[in-house]
Amino acid sequence: MLKAIQNLGSSTTTTTTTTTTKGFVASFYRLKPPHATTTSAFVSISSSLLSYYSPRTRPTKPLLFLTRKTRSLEPVRAHSTRSESKMDGTSSSSSAVAVQSSGSVRKINFCQWCGGQTKHDIPDGEEKMRAICTVCGKITYQNPKMVVGCLIEHDNKVLLCKRNIQPSFGLWTLPAGYLEIGESAAEGAIRETWEEAHAEVEVVSPFAHLDIPLIGQTYIIFLAKLRKPHFSPGPESLECQLFSLDDIPFDSLAFSSMAVTLKLYIEDVKAGSRKFHYGTINKRPGSSPSDTHAYTLDNHLQS
Ligand SMILES: [Zn+2]
Repeated sequence: MLKAIQNLGSSTTTTTTTTTTKGFVASFYRLKPPHATTTSAFVSISSSLLSYYSPRTRPTKPLLFLTRKTRSLEPVRAHSTRSESKMDGTSSSSSAVAVQSSGSVRKINFCQWCGGQTKHDIPDGEEKMRAICTVCGKITYQNPKMVVGCLIEHDNKVLLCKRNIQPSFGLWTLPAGYLEIGESAAEGAIRETWEEAHAEVEVVSPFAHLDIPLIGQTYIIFLAKLRKPHFSPGPESLECQLFSLDDIPFDSLAFSSMAVTLKLYIEDVKAGSRKFHYGTINKRPGSSPSDTHAYTLDNHLQS
């Protein structure tokens, strides 16, 4: 679910070891919660796919996280998708702009630690304006939020949820939401899928990493499959539905990130090969989050 700003900053200790399987690098992860005082041993699991289906279980159990072995990333010509009618890889170079590093930053008026009033100034040794507490002196840093989700393939269809919450109430999205402290991106994607679609899924592979610098969000979307052929809308969804690729409601999608993801996916399916995509979504300043036409996909790389 997409919800209010969350505090970040806690650290999680992660220990890993890797082993190579066919086409993948499998990493065994054991997460150590911030409050834990002992280091846990590695534990192998039998499944070849990451599986996490209990939304009430804290993600501290061992996981097998599959990452497609990285091949050299090939730059792909950036393309304007404002027409929304197709993802045109041959569009003009005008959309191939440089990475935009500036984004909107909320004005922080009160300290997140002591509640004291802040002043806005450039701290010594830094270059950017920050909110500095006038009482305790701490600086509030604002960093991008990570959104994680699943693109679920089932019978040549994909699962979408119609949002029951703002923003973008009534519009369709892949099940996705903010990553929580203490969970991996894959765990978060599986949790969000359960919360929004009551679907138990297995993550198959990472599919897309999309940055939206303007609003400070990074999306990681995984390909996934249903562990059981059941799903139903969670509290934040009005309905959940499998769509064939020709029927995806591109004019009623909640977010441009979903439009980009689904268009890349359709291209891959038609080409007969799922790839891993990286790209930057540059939103048109001042546009609505639900205006899925107001962006360009730049710096597109694919494996
Ligand atoms: Zn303070």
